[in-house]
Amino acid sequence: MQLIKQIPSLQTQVKAWHLAGETVAFVPTMGNLHSGHFALIERARQTGTKVIASIFVNPAQFDRAEDLANYPVTLDADCAALAQLGTDVVFAPSAQAMYPSGALRTKVEVPGISDVLEGEKRSGHFIGVATVVNKLFNLVQPDIAVFGAKDFQQLLVIRQMVNDLNMNISIEAVTAVRDEDGLAKSSRNGYLSATERKIAPVLHQILQQTAQRVIALGAQGATAYQAVQQEMLGKLAQAGFTAEYLEVRRNTDLQPPQVGDEELVLLVSAWLGKARLIDNLQVLLREGEII
Ligand code: AMP
Repeated sequence: MQLIKQIPSLQTQVKAWHLAGETVAFVPTMGNLHSGHFALIERARQTGTKVIASIFVNPAQFDRAEDLANYPVTLDADCAALAQLGTDVVFAPSAQAMYPSGALRTKVEVPGISDVLEGEKRSGHFIGVATVVNKLFNLVQPDIAVFGAKDFQQLLVIRQMVNDLNMNISIEAVTAVRDEDGLAKSSRNGYLSATERKIAPVLHQILQQTAQRVIALGAQGATAYQAVQQEMLGKLAQAGFTAEYLEVRRNTDLQPPQVGDEELVLLVSAWLGKARLIDNLQVLLREGEII
């Protein structure tokens, strides 16, 4: 496995692979890798002949300076794990290489899908995400890019960007990887104290309960789900979370469901101590499926 930090070296490697007829599968990450990221690498290995992972803690997508300053950096351990999994290249550029002018200049905005939920709570976050993913796509020139459904809204933002800008890249989604107690793997779980870590799976349990209640109600539209949302927000508060939102939305555009809408997603964001946790579950009413 090669660790590449310089942009021209990456471009030379990618060009050679494309000339040789290789299919490049790409996994963008911010490092501090866990089994959630590894599932994306596995998918990339199944779909491409060459796998590139990027590790870049993107300053442009952090809405709080403190979060950026504390974000865990574990490059050596990440590279060891990626090598084990058969990754061909790790691209780990510096912030200076990615943003030579020191700031975001040209920006990619994905309106609509970016304006709700996480976009409302984290000002400018999705502009930072869309811009850096666009830059990484231009550098890596992937045929396939793999993202986690753990960050459901991010996945939809990327899909819309790829579609709207006619990017010839196939976007693959991997279901959230969880600990045995249901807590979705996240680099931010490291901020939890031992006591908070015991409480944290309640987030997933509440989503499961919400999903059951929504299935029982059926495709009744947003108003019908409001009482359940309120009740579940109350349960989160009782457990010790400070919730930002818990919403039933359509899984296509994250708008409130109309009567008859059957493809839904439940999305939650809540603080537990110093950790801001997000999670989601899709509910497909026709199939009675929870994903
Ligand atoms: P991050 O390093 O947090 O920016 O995440 C990089 C990629 O890994 C994104 O596509 C995330 O959605 C994905 N990811 C993060 N956590 C998980 C998880 N628990 N299961 C599956 N994918 C994940």
